[in-house]
Amino acid sequence: MRIILLGAPGAGKGTVAKLLMEMDGSVQISTGDILRAAVKEGTDLGKEAKGYMDRGDLVPDNLIMKMMEVRLQQPDCQKGFILDGFPRTVPQAEALGLLLNNIRIKLDFVVNLEVPREVILDRLTTRRTCANPDCQEIYNVKSNPPAADGTCKKCGTKVIQRADETVEAINNRLETYTQKTAPLIGFYEKQGLLRSFASINSADTVAAIGRALNA
Ligand code: ADP
Repeated sequence: MRIILLGAPGAGKGTVAKLLMEMDGSVQISTGDILRAAVKEGTDLGKEAKGYMDRGDLVPDNLIMKMMEVRLQQPDCQKGFILDGFPRTVPQAEALGLLLNNIRIKLDFVVNLEVPREVILDRLTTRRTCANPDCQEIYNVKSNPPAADGTCKKCGTKVIQRADETVEAINNRLETYTQKTAPLIGFYEKQGLLRSFASINSADTVAAIGRALNA
């Protein structure tokens, strides 16, 4: 499959992407994960991106596009890809359109995950993430807690609250989403590529996306 996942922070893009990946071996490409790994490794990209990320602001479009031009042409993308957290702005979507044209790749469609705002706020403030950049398993203190000693059940690393998951950073991320990313819904609707899914339960949503892909 070749799809884009759109949705507010906390809409469940990461969880849905992982389940879709299991369906047919397409790769999940999460710009957030790539950026966090770059910060951890201290690369030039990571150094430039860190301040924006900790505040919950978007990383500048030119940095993101340089990174994604490389990523989308890596061999594992041949099998298909699920874009999670990219594009996030209209200029990114326009640049992605040109890039996909150049490398002769056609998207199946763009998935818009619709989740009520109260559900999103609750999820974001209770979310915890494994600090190991190679794992990044996501937990929830209410519905899916880490091991009793606060470590990851998969890899044993400490499970933490991300710097961008404080209440202030969360409000900023939601505001940024409304201003910069929500316009992509209209952008892709005009291109006839948008499919919206009311999404509370990720497994149900993934099944519905699977049916739409096979239709
Ligand atoms: P979220 O849960 O907010 O969707 P992500 O893991 O997708 O979190 O992204 C974390 C941060 O990385 C964002 O707040 C932003 O600073 C940066 N980021 C990720 N993807 C992009 C993008 N496509 N454009 C600009 N910034 C991005």
